[in-house]
Amino acid sequence: MYEITLIPGDGVGPEVTEAAKRCIEATGVKIKWDIVEAGADIMEKYGTPLPAQVLESVKKNKVALKGPITTPVGTGFRSVNVALRKKLDLYACVRPCKIYPGVRTKYDNVDLVVIRENTEDLYAGIEFKQGLSETKEFIDFVEKLSHIKINKDSGISIKPISIKNSERIVRFAFEYAKKYNRKKVTAVHKANIMKFSDGLFLEVARKVAEEYPEIEFEDRMVDNMCMQLVQKPEIYDLMVLPNLYGDIISDLCAGLVGGLGVAPGANIGEDIAVFEAVHGSAPKYTGLNKVNPTALILSGIMMLRYLGEVEAADRLEQATATVIKEGKYVTYDMKKNRDDPTAVGTKEMANAIIAQL
Ligand code: NAD
Repeated sequence: MYEITLIPGDGVGPEVTEAAKRCIEATGVKIKWDIVEAGADIMEKYGTPLPAQVLESVKKNKVALKGPITTPVGTGFRSVNVALRKKLDLYACVRPCKIYPGVRTKYDNVDLVVIRENTEDLYAGIEFKQGLSETKEFIDFVEKLSHIKINKDSGISIKPISIKNSERIVRFAFEYAKKYNRKKVTAVHKANIMKFSDGLFLEVARKVAEEYPEIEFEDRMVDNMCMQLVQKPEIYDLMVLPNLYGDIISDLCAGLVGGLGVAPGANIGEDIAVFEAVHGSAPKYTGLNKVNPTALILSGIMMLRYLGEVEAADRLEQATATVIKEGKYVTYDMKKNRDDPTAVGTKEMANAIIAQL
């Protein structure tokens, strides 16, 4: 019996997590869910969208399945999702992008994994707002050290990239490649321009790659990578990227394989993993039993594999693939015409998957 934290989230979160939970339970794997609330809906009750018991539960159970959470606008809280990743040091964001026959996409052969560094780069949150006195002070300081002029009315974001965090994300990528039988790792960067941040990332990646001679290693500039992925995604396998490029490329790759409704993910640290879809809380569809549960079900399949429940994961993946291929009991976004009256709801698609198990 596994004890797993379940964070339903807000918006469409409770609907897709319920669908994924039922599919996972239907595989027969025994799970005791520790259901904890987080997100916009509980702000009033707890005074925060991320109460302490959520972190405590994930720290205790080490594994969580999480629905999307709305980022509150106009409060001091930046994002529950980012806070969770930071507080639990979930440094690796893993986003597999694979085409399931029946999905609406212009491509026919994509099976990629994007591994994004989650903790540093321009997402470190070190920012200086335009006009503040400390920003002016900072600009003066940098001008003095670099001998480069900066417009006084600039806002500034800092991009730290360290040896330690680059090393652990690249090593994670190679270990993942080894475990899941991936043949090639591509490090993505812009090292020709950002020599001391992306350049460092690339240098570290090359060194770590030497420890894995059985896995092919190459690198690509991020701009070239975007073009190559659109033109010939089939020649890539697993990509490892610093935070910002990882964010952008993972959405690009989700687009290659059918969109947000089918894009799963995980945020993984040393001994804790939180599984969640790439998509957000899609507030306009809240409570309508309309959105696609596939992304969270595929995230649940990743969770089963992480737990070592490979046979259950394979069965649930096969059942999901069958329902997608048949194209009958699927949500609106998987139909040719989005107004197709034969589209089913979130619950009904989950029921159809369970019926295949
Ligand atoms: P979103 O992913 O919530 O939705 C954008 C659009 O994508 C939706 O309107 C819908 O058309 C489509 N979509 C999303 N999920 C779908 C699904 N399962 N099935 C079918 N169609 C789907 O992005 P957004 O509107 O930019 O963000 C809404 C909120 O979610 C924001 O507050 C944002 O900060 C938050 N967010 C949270 C997470 C997370 O919890 N990890 C991730 C991204 C965004």
